Amino acid sequence: MKKVGFLVCLMMFSMSVFAGSRADARFDEYKEKVVKQMWRMYPGWASSIGYHKYDSVLVIPTQASRNEELDFCEEQLKHLRKIDDSSLSDLNKIDLHLLINQMEYAIWGINELKAWQWDPSQYNVSGAIADMLGNDYAPLDDRLRNVYKKMLQIPLYYDVARSNIKNPTAEHTQLAIDQNLGGLSVFTSDLEEAIKKSTLTDIEKEKIHTKSLLCVAAIKGYVDWLKALNLSNARSFRLGADLYKQKFNFEIQSGYSADEIFAKAESHKKELHQKMFEITSQLWPKYLSAVTMPEDKLKAIKMMIDALSQKHVKPGEFQKAIEQQIPYLVKFIQNKNLIYIDSTKPLVVRREPDYMAGVAGASINAPGPYDKNGNTYYNVGSLDGWEAEKAESYLREYNHYILQILNIHEAIPGHYTQLVYANQAPSIIKSILGNNAMIEGWAVYTERMMLENGYDGDKGLESTEASPEMWLMYYKWNLRSTCNTILDYKVHTKNMSKQDAMKLLTQEAFQQEAEAEGKWKRVSVTQVQLCCYFTGYTEIYDLRSMLMKKMGSNFKLKSFHEQFLSYGSSPVKYIKEMMLKEMH
Ligand code: ZN
Ligand code: ZN
Repeated sequence: MKKVGFLVCLMMFSMSVFAGSRADARFDEYKEKVVKQMWRMYPGWASSIGYHKYDSVLVIPTQASRNEELDFCEEQLKHLRKIDDSSLSDLNKIDLHLLINQMEYAIWGINELKAWQWDPSQYNVSGAIADMLGNDYAPLDDRLRNVYKKMLQIPLYYDVARSNIKNPTAEHTQLAIDQNLGGLSVFTSDLEEAIKKSTLTDIEKEKIHTKSLLCVAAIKGYVDWLKALNLSNARSFRLGADLYKQKFNFEIQSGYSADEIFAKAESHKKELHQKMFEITSQLWPKYLSAVTMPEDKLKAIKMMIDALSQKHVKPGEFQKAIEQQIPYLVKFIQNKNLIYIDSTKPLVVRREPDYMAGVAGASINAPGPYDKNGNTYYNVGSLDGWEAEKAESYLREYNHYILQILNIHEAIPGHYTQLVYANQAPSIIKSILGNNAMIEGWAVYTERMMLENGYDGDKGLESTEASPEMWLMYYKWNLRSTCNTILDYKVHTKNMSKQDAMKLLTQEAFQQEAEAEGKWKRVSVTQVQLCCYFTGYTEIYDLRSMLMKKMGSNFKLKSFHEQFLSYGSSPVKYIKEMMLKEMH
């Protein structure tokens, strides 16, 4: 009996391995096929991530093309739901979930959310044309010929856009007006300049020029039509609880519901305020001994933040300061054995290119899935030409302490490090459907993790404890993502007024008036997006706490980080599932 049993087991084992690898192979084939079909379905998306085969195509947003998209998604779902996920590898299992979510999200968007009716800013062609003119992935003449083909469809595109719009929100209408007008220069100065640089024949040049005039007229016509709409009874920009919670599930793909995350954000805010007040009291004699500490805790914290913010670099040294911190961060991480950093893939710090100018700040620019060998850039804004007052206010915001946290977040071990790991588990699905909450959550998580391990630029590589100043400013930074979540949830599901929103941001999150105004503008034209930072961070932190408890002294921070990142940009709930499974 035993022998038979053993044989059966062996057979089952080898069969499952065999079936598994065959199922994976079949799924890999399907993935390749479906991605190609997706690019035909979504040519704009394709161009934006560097797949340029359909650059000349502009989808006219008719009911027929929406039906075509619905059919496509339904057909994929029919196939995807039949796949037995237990036969797939962990990484493919996640890809399967991501694809199902994508198809369901697209169907929901057309049938339920219906932003194609109420958000006129969805209709805008200038970004796509600007990309084609500005990025030299192909010879300029070829790109211009594709621009021409695309332009042929633009007048019809805006005609159909008008017929789609029903009861739009005032906020999205204004956004559409601003953005479409803002994009006009693409069809005038930018295009003319590109034509001049090209080696097209005079006839070709003239054809493009004539067509561009029609495009400008079509865009202006759309804008005039939007301006004339009567919006006195317009739809509210607030999404409402039902749609919001569903969108949260599709977009964030969290193990927590929107309600749960909101509750967590509220209690986290209270905790942060408490910790900030403790540090403020501790630091008061050092920085503000001449002043009496106000009774109001939040006012006292604000005064301490203002005092600490005065420590910052000079405008001309902003980029240099960032550049110098990168190798220091790497050394610290190696010293503390926090995560393996691949030194063969250095990060290129550069002044932000002209087309990004004006936004300042810092951002990571990574090569897309179709340009794997491209450099990864750390774009750093320059303050050249800024008025002294504006520069001073900016530098107080990105002061000595926050600048270090920004580098952790954007570069090492935040976004950049995560990217390097994601590229080692290559999956086209994960790179195009990557989970934003995981990506932002990781960057936010590393800020705290670095401080917990003693990171402090003023205390050297051996530091075991960050200074109270560093912690206070970190908490202020962390309050931003916490309050983003509270704001987004309350505005869209609880009817939060602008006045209350401004109070939350300026008094409880210590933001400047201008920053808070900008946030209000953002929350009135986006939904859910502002939650991704806090949600991802919370999920990662909770997962780590859970594993530390379970593993006790066997828990190794470095292994946790490396294993966590090995699943690519997947939703944290799936990473959690795989990591817990591997423990058994
Ligand atoms: Zn100053
Ligand atoms: Zn980020």
